[in-house]
Parts: sequence; structure tokens; C-alpha cells
Amino acid sequence: MRADLHTHSWYSDGTLSPEALVARAADCNIQYLAITDHDSTGAWQSLTPQQVPDGLMLVPGVEISTLWEGREIHIVGLFVNDQHPGLTALLQQHQELRRIRAQAIADKLAASGITGLMAHLDTLPCQAISRNHIADFLIERGLAGNKQQAFSKLLGARGRYRAPAQWCDIGTACRTLVDAGGLAVLAHPDRYRLTGVRMNRLLSEFSEAGGEAMEVSYSNLNPDKLAHLGDLCEAHRLWASIGSDFHTPDREWMDIGKIRHLPRNCRERAVWHHPLWQATLSDAA
Ligand code: AMP
Ligand code: MN
Ligand code: MN
Ligand code: MN
Repeated sequence: MRADLHTHSWYSDGTLSPEALVARAADCNIQYLAITDHDSTGAWQSLTPQQVPDGLMLVPGVEISTLWEGREIHIVGLFVNDQHPGLTALLQQHQELRRIRAQAIADKLAASGITGLMAHLDTLPCQAISRNHIADFLIERGLAGNKQQAFSKLLGARGRYRAPAQWCDIGTACRTLVDAGGLAVLAHPDRYRLTGVRMNRLLSEFSEAGGEAMEVSYSNLNPDKLAHLGDLCEAHRLWASIGSDFHTPDREWMDIGKIRHLPRNCRERAVWHHPLWQATLSDAA
């Protein structure tokens, strides 16, 4: 299955336009692509059928930021109805929270004599402002050498200019995605650096809230981690998803479709066997 179910366009913090993203996906021989911008469905809404290359099928997607036990956990939604009022309201609210967070960071920067962040953000094509954009600004101003540094020293949980965001909880995100006809997928579980006990608690609470799938294979996963995620997926009886989390062609190690196959114990639980996939895509395939 040539599928990539987690990618970003410039409607959030990716660098490609929706047209360029689908063109690149086609060049990478992808058959099924989900554009899952942070708190935005604008990219795939904006595409006309003529702009989608032949042989490429779009899976309607989104990536919602949530708060769980004080951590930022990302939930991907697939097959969502973008007209669902509950979903559009949540995304609009999160886009506003993103602006408020950016303003709080801009205020902290201004107090240190660094101005111009909001003016810079206003020049971008994004619908959802991300700290990724703010990191670019800080690097451009010479305050950080690279993204990693911008997050660890300036924008992350212990960063000098950090500002909290009041994202919804995972229950709200899962319920909203399910109400909008979608499948809730826990994004990149190993990036949260949870202990085993916490990870199991997260997966249990996620399942109880209506979450049905987790990402098992994504960029930069070594075989041990992949196998571990496969075991977690099986133990929690979740569906298994795959996605590169592509943001930009500049990071060639995270290119579209550059992901390992699902481990053997997850192949039958791959999301393309889920009834929603069958109902939505199999006719058209
Ligand atoms: P936000 O959506 O505002 O919470 O910003 C988070 C985004 O910033 C993520 O989706 C990543 O694209 C990016 N990001 C987070 N941490 C890092 C990091 N350490 N290095 C590079 N990019 C990061
Ligand atoms: Mn991102
Ligand atoms: Mn994410
Ligand atoms: Mn992502």
C-alpha cells in the first residue's frame, strides 16, 4: 500500500502549497495521501479535482493539538467531514488559540527588545500559526542556530520565551473527530517521551474517548521502536496507521512516503482494512 496519512502544507507549518504537495506525493508514487495540517482542513478544501494528479486519492485529514496531563499530544483525524459544525468550531477556536499564543511569545520577545514577530507571521500563507514558524523567525534573527535549538532553548517547555496554549483535551478531540464521521489516530506516540506506564494510560484513555488507531510507522523510526509500537498497537487493539509527518522537501529524511512497512503483527489491523476506509475509498479505487 503506497499510503502517507500524515503530511503538512503551508496551511499550517509545511512549506509547500497544497498543489505542490499533491504533485510531490504523486512523484513519490503515493496512492493515498492525507493532508493533516495542524488544526486546519483548508489545504485539501482548497484543491479542485483538476489539481489532484491522476492516480492519487486524498484522504480528508487534520492534526489536532490537545493537552493531556500537561503535555501536548497530537491526534490525527482521518475521513473527517470538514462541514461538521463541531469540527469547524473546534478548528477555528484552535486557530485563535494559536494566534493568542504567538502574541504572548511576541510580547515576551518585545520585552527583550526583539520586535516584528506578528508582522512576520502576517506575511505567511498559513491558516494555523505554529511555533515552527516562530522558530524560523528566531533563527533568521540569529537567536537560535537551528530548529532543535530554537525549541529546546526558546520555545519548548523549558524555553525562555515559552507560552502555554489551552488546547482541548484528548476526549474532546476524539469525540469531535468521531462526531464528524472520522477516525481518531494517536500521532507519533514515541515523540512524547512517556514512560511505559504513562504510555499505556494514554492509550487506554484515548481508546475510552473513542480513539481507534495509532501511528505505528513514521519517519526516523528504528526497527526496535517500530516493533515496540506494533506491540502496543496490538495490545491495545487499535488500528495501525502510517505517515511521514512531511513538512518540507529540505528534510529529505522525512520525505513523503519515506516510512517502513507495518510490522507483521499489525498488517491485518492496518487502517486500510477499517470499515470507514472501505466505505469511503474502496469504491473509488
Ligand atoms: P505548535 O503546533 O505551535 O505546537 O508547534 C509544534 C510544531 O513545531 C510541530 O508540529 C513540529 O513541526 C515543530 N517542532 C516541534 N518541536 C520541534 C523540534 N524540536 N525541532 C523541530 N521542529 C519541532
Ligand atoms: Mn508541525
Ligand atoms: Mn505532530
Ligand atoms: Mn504533523
